[in-house]
Amino acid sequence: MSDLKNAVGWQDRAACRNMDTEEFFNDVRSQRAKKICRQCPVITECLNFAMKCETRCLAYRHGIYGGLTPGQREQLAHRRATGGRQDGRALATESLPAVRG
Ligand code: SF4
Repeated sequence: MSDLKNAVGWQDRAACRNMDTEEFFNDVRSQRAKKICRQCPVITECLNFAMKCETRCLAYRHGIYGGLTPGQREQLAHRRATGGRQDGRALATESLPAVRG
């Protein structure tokens, strides 16, 4: 129950709250979604939540969460599993190309 309460708490502060989720599940628009994530105050909570869900079931690995693509989260999970200390937030910001406009 407390996991659910915590999830709702951080999701209320999400930059993507009330946005069209198509932005986050469309490969063509993924850079725009990642730009939104980069400014999100709960990027760490979001990424940790996604990683936790995906550990339980790989079928959840879709869309942009925590500023990372599914492939990047897979890479992060592998690094963590093999003892790497890659910070997800750093990976999210490093992976962004120069932002236009
Ligand atoms: S990090 Fe991105 S996907 Fe996650 S809550 Fe924030 S804006 Fe939404």
